[in-house]
Amino acid sequence: MTPAVRSLVAALGPGELPVYVYDLAALREHAAAVRAALPDGVELYYAAKANPEPEILTALAGLVCGYEVSSGGELAHVRKAVPGAPLAFGGPGKTADEIARAVGLDAVRVHVESEHELRLLAAETARQGQDVDVLLRVNLPLVDGTLGPVPLAMGGRPTAFGLDPAGIDACLALLASPECRRLRLCGIHAHLASGLDPTAQLAVAERLVDWTTRLAERHRIRLDEVNVGGGMAVDYTDPAARFDWTVFGTGLARILCRRPGLRLRIEPGRALTAYCGWYVTVVLDVKRSHGEEFAVVRGGTHHMRTPAARGHDQPFTVLPVETWPHPWPRPAVTTDTVTLAGQLCTPKDVLARRVPAAGLRAADRVVFAMAGAYAWNISHHSFLMHPRPGAQFLA
Ligand SMILES: *Cc1c(COP(=O)(O)O)cnc(C)c1O
Repeated sequence: MTPAVRSLVAALGPGELPVYVYDLAALREHAAAVRAALPDGVELYYAAKANPEPEILTALAGLVCGYEVSSGGELAHVRKAVPGAPLAFGGPGKTADEIARAVGLDAVRVHVESEHELRLLAAETARQGQDVDVLLRVNLPLVDGTLGPVPLAMGGRPTAFGLDPAGIDACLALLASPECRRLRLCGIHAHLASGLDPTAQLAVAERLVDWTTRLAERHRIRLDEVNVGGGMAVDYTDPAARFDWTVFGTGLARILCRRPGLRLRIEPGRALTAYCGWYVTVVLDVKRSHGEEFAVVRGGTHHMRTPAARGHDQPFTVLPVETWPHPWPRPAVTTDTVTLAGQLCTPKDVLARRVPAAGLRAADRVVFAMAGAYAWNISHHSFLMHPRPGAQFLA
């Protein structure tokens, strides 16, 4: 917890919990350090789906070169929150209407995910008389066992994302046809895996750049932009272990040295915002069940689905509260470990399982860390109709 968050949490009244607290100064400091670690020639985009709160998007303005959006909703939302910022519009299954809106905006690059989408885009640019920059999103088998464990693979296996390598030549032929005269092919996009360490990320980037170079040579075209995606590792078992942006930036500089004129782009989400958010709540009850102890906190996975979605224990700190308003004994953890569960009527509503929290008592506060990405916005808010958490943004 940053000092600013600690003092804010201490000052919150019980009626203000649960609450998400975001430290925007810490976010800006982190993003500036990431930016500083990247060489010239590498553009940093933020993948808005990790956390699209307008305050987060605005805090990153000026520190990132643009934003990656993956739906028409995100396109409109991000354009409104940070007017004028360049956008990269990706995602499978873009509707004709979403494509029409993207074509109508300035400074939007489209990441094309299929041949049909390319045709829709070409037709729309012709209709509106607008030129559009495009990157082809490819699903290449570049992530393999030599890179170490891959927590979540979007590419290199059958998925709904991007173009199969076998379909790329057809798209390039289409792009060279009069039908696509308003489309400017700028380069290649790939977002192949999530959770890669810097060495694995660099290996993927290098393979992607090599593949793109060969493709450009074979077709005698220029492909000056390579977007290597996001997926920089975030380790929830160790909040202090951060993705080494210096190693990554140094490696990207080496790649750029070999390919003058290349523009590399990265679009991390989680690794930018995960560390700037906390989900703060209070223990409602502590109970024993068949030999194990459970602390039931106010809220749960309908506010922060992250640990359920990923199957991890969300890291947390306990802030003891000494006042106990009732005349009866205060329920408290008596054994070595406890499971932190939420208020939902499902055994899946668990935020951390069999974790040490000696002496945790009802009415103590629990501050879950690393809740700044894929937390509130991926949760099923309406399930069971509990109240929504508050949100506080520390400037
Ligand atoms: C989700 C996503 C990202 C961001 O991934 P992180 O794991 O949050 O860094 C980047 N690019 C695309 C295309 C995505 O779908």
